[in-house]
Amino acid sequence: MRLGGRKMSDNVEDRRGKRSSGKMSLGIGGTIILGIIIWVLGGDPASFLSQQIANGVTSEQTYTPTDEEEAMTVFAKQVLKGTEETWTKIFEQKGLKYIPPKMVLFSGATYSGCGNASSATGPFYCPADQTVYIDLSFFKEMETQLDAGGDFAYAYVIAHEVGHHVQYLLGTLSKVQQAQQKMSQKESNQLNIRLELQADFYAGIWAYHDNKDYASLEEGDIEEGLNAASQIGDDRLQMKSQGYTVPDSFNHGTSAQRSRWLKKGLETGDVSHGDTFAIPYSQL
Ligand SMILES: [Zn+2]
Repeated sequence: MRLGGRKMSDNVEDRRGKRSSGKMSLGIGGTIILGIIIWVLGGDPASFLSQQIANGVTSEQTYTPTDEEEAMTVFAKQVLKGTEETWTKIFEQKGLKYIPPKMVLFSGATYSGCGNASSATGPFYCPADQTVYIDLSFFKEMETQLDAGGDFAYAYVIAHEVGHHVQYLLGTLSKVQQAQQKMSQKESNQLNIRLELQADFYAGIWAYHDNKDYASLEEGDIEEGLNAASQIGDDRLQMKSQGYTVPDSFNHGTSAQRSRWLKKGLETGDVSHGDTFAIPYSQL
């Protein structure tokens, strides 16, 4: 990506180097919300919940980021700023006001409105505090463990989480959450996949507009994004971890589905093509 000289978002809280334990415990509602927003790259919602909830202990150590970490921080802030510009524009066209999410950068573990978070959970969006949480070391993991490296792949992750925020603002998240309370696990998973694929689509929408406004995409970027979307498909991840797939347990979408929806956003730039809830499940 070409982001040199681009503005950085102000909506970022840097908690790296701060070891914090949360003050919030989760109710049942919180647990359900949590289940749907975790990025799930080997991330286990249970790992969230099993973390001991201590009493707001925060200790600060001196933390000096490496040059690479610093560059990644600038990158994340620039990408977030780009999403703010794109979504502000799109919301305005619909006569709506876009209220950007916050982003918390953390290292190791932190607290969130959805409970305690650790790096093991992967990046996630918490609707309770409208915040995207990311331990930037996750991007290193994408590169080394998931064969999903590349700057545009990382930007896609951020834009996907922001996509969940867009779903929050448009009321989609709460509708899905309500519907899921009266469903079987299988149906609930399918609804979750629709939500995830739409967030992938929204990531593509951002990339389309960012590129249109700034010519930010370079040769190979789109391939990086599509590769990442494909590497984190439920089928691919299950095959890797257990050697077989259980389609009824999928809750983020297959490799083919995820890359298809990201691509659709990237190619159309038009949010009206992103109603993943209106299409028969078998055709997603
Ligand atoms: Zn997601």
